[in-house]
Formats: sequence, C-alpha cells, structure tokens
Amino acid sequence: MSGFVEKPEPVEVPGLEHLHTGKVRDLYRTEQGDLVMVASDRMSAYDWVLPTEIPDKGRVLTQLSLWWFDLLADLVPHHVLSTELPPGAPADWQGRTLVCRSLRMIPVEAVARGYLTGSGLAEYERSRTVCGLALPEGLTDGSELPAPIFTPATKAEVGEHDENVSYEEVARRIGAEPAANLRQTTLAVYARARDIARERGIILADTKFEFGYAAATADTEGAELVLADEVLTPDSSRFWPADTWQPGRAQPSFDKQFVRDWLTSPASGWDRHGEQPPPPLPAEVVEQTRAKYVEAYERLTGISW
Ligand code: ATP
Ligand code: MG
Repeated sequence: MSGFVEKPEPVEVPGLEHLHTGKVRDLYRTEQGDLVMVASDRMSAYDWVLPTEIPDKGRVLTQLSLWWFDLLADLVPHHVLSTELPPGAPADWQGRTLVCRSLRMIPVEAVARGYLTGSGLAEYERSRTVCGLALPEGLTDGSELPAPIFTPATKAEVGEHDENVSYEEVARRIGAEPAANLRQTTLAVYARARDIARERGIILADTKFEFGYAAATADTEGAELVLADEVLTPDSSRFWPADTWQPGRAQPSFDKQFVRDWLTSPASGWDRHGEQPPPPLPAEVVEQTRAKYVEAYERLTGISW
C-alpha cells in the first residue's frame, strides 16, 4: 500500500486552472499559459504522503531551488519566470510559489549519481551494473563511484517507484542527440552542485533533474534544454553530512532520518510492510525534521533562515 493518507483538496483561485496535485507540489496554469508550482509542507516517506505536515518545508524547498537555479544559470537556463504571487492567490503561498515557463517536458528523470546507494546499490549487488553501466568490484553502500554516472529513470505515478532504464533505452525514446545532450547537461550540473555542496560539508550523493524544451521549439534536435521542476533539494537529492560519511552502511539521511527512525520504531506502532497508512508524527519528530530542512538550506546557501 502507498499513496496519500488523505489527498488534499486543491485550493481554488480565480484565473488559475488546477492541473495536478503531486506528492508535494500543487500545479496550476495561468490564463497566459504559464505554470504555477506551489510547494506544500507535505512530506513523503516509505512511499506514503504522511498525514502530518512539516512547517516551512515548502518554503525551504522553493527558496533552495531558486538559490541553485540562479547559481547554475551560466550552465543551463531554468524555467522560473517570477516569484510574485498570481493575483488572488492566498497570502500563505508567498515564498513557496514559482511562476514558470510551461515547457515540453522530456519524459525522463535525469538522475546523476556520484555515490552508490538505493536502487543503484540494489542493481549493483545483482549484476555489478547500475542502469546497465558496468562498475568495478568492491563497492559498497555509500561508496564514491570512480566517476559520476547518468542513471535515467522513467517517471512513475503516485505510489509507484520510478524505474531505472538504460541510456540506450532513453536514446530510443527521445533520440540519440537529445539523449546525449541530456546526459552531458545532467552530469555537468551535478558536478558543479556536488563541488559547491562539498565545500559546505555536504555530500551530494545523487540527484534528479527534470528538463524540458521551450514549448515553441518544434524540433528536439539541437534545441536548448531548460532546467525545470525543483532542483537540488532534500526531496530530489540525497544529501549526506560529509563528516559522518562512512561507506559500508546506510548513511544518515539529512532530512528524513528522524521520520524514518520514528516510523520504524515500536513507538509508532506502524508496520511499513503492512496495509495500514502511517500514523501522524509526534511534535518532536516534526520539529527535528523541520530543523533539518532549515539546516540544509542554511548550510548550503550560507543564509540564515
Ligand atoms: P512526485 O514528484 O510527487 O512524484 P509529480 O512529479 O507527479 O509527483 P510534482 O513533482 O508535484 O508531481 O509536480 C510537478 C510536475 O510538473 C511534474 O510532472 C513535472 O514534470 C512538471 N513540471 C515541472 N516543471 C515544469 C515546466 N516548466 N513545464 C511543464 N511541466 C513541468
Ligand atoms: Mg515530481
């Protein structure tokens, strides 16, 4: 079982068409055809959207994405048009709403990994490969890879896992030249972000980008990739504190550790492999988790929240 414990009703705003309620974000379209992305305080763990929100999470994710978009702008253009609220939007959308160019999205999750863990580790243990790429013997959970790799995945519906696919499969789906461009851009952006995070004591183990083409571009051959969605947040990336990094075990996750630890402890009374949805989080777990999101923002940007 997985999905929403309670799927929220979309907020109605005159002049905005509600398009989608994702696990974390709500999507609308303006009358001009632009996209409005509103990040909520919802949190997911173990494939569930939890029944308890983490105050400020939506704002942290949005402000962190903006910080990265700006920092990466010389490498790749991004989709953000404005941070101003659309007329009539609720005041509490402030700080967690981005008005974006509506792009023709590439239907591939562009994942870069510099370290081995998660689904990459699972494949490695079966076949010494990740997304079909051969890797050396002797790597373990948390190992740094000899060089970062592009490990694309296809997008899944809410409650389902994204599926890793080979580079060849991506090339079949979107064309050889767009696939090469996607890989090259993903790895370049990852390398830049990894170095910035590392200087600030954070290992960027892996991250997921989504790219699109300006809607006006008819042809994908040679068209410029635009960085979309959210970028380099704790929700789209694995951040590990560099000072406790130790290959050979699961690394403490920067953001979800308190939630995961509590959910899997006897105190929660919850069975993650059972049929029941997860229970509400206690106040101290909410507060510790909020503090972690804020700490990620502060450590990366150097700006106090
Ligand atoms: P989840 O991320 O929770 O698995 P989701 O991806 O369906 O679910 P969100 O991430 O909340 O939902 O919504 C963002 C959606 O908007 C994604 O489908 C993403 O591909 C799309 N998107 C992001 N930026 C743009 C853009 N500039 N133009 C068009 N679509 C975009
Ligand atoms: Mg998404």
